[in-house]
Amino acid sequence: MNHATDPLYRPRPSNDDHDQDDVREPVAAGRMYLAEPGWRIGVKSGSDREFCYMVAPGQDFYHRLHDGEVFLHRHDEKLCLACASRRGLLVGEPRRLRDLPMAPPRETEGLSFEVGWYDVKRS
Ligand SMILES: [Zn+2]
Repeated sequence: MNHATDPLYRPRPSNDDHDQDDVREPVAAGRMYLAEPGWRIGVKSGSDREFCYMVAPGQDFYHRLHDGEVFLHRHDEKLCLACASRRGLLVGEPRRLRDLPMAPPRETEGLSFEVGWYDVKRS
């Protein structure tokens, strides 16, 4: 696959500080969202041995995280993005507003008010 002639594929702004010698293809990533709270994003740097905490399908070993690799971590647990996505930790949509623990829905408020009012009348 050669996308080098397509100007839309690899935009190069004039103040690009990207390493011009880096010929690696950019990854096709969309916006992604964490499905579980508590995870942080890290970038592996250096050559000390660190491993992803999940075994990839078809492998029977824990694979290494490489220098420059973006990963998720929570406490001591580290996951490469491929394994995190496979585990369902990375999703393609933000959490919907009604799933957030905000103010209770209006129906519930009205209901509790009615019950309270009847209680008052009875006593
Ligand atoms: Zn992994």
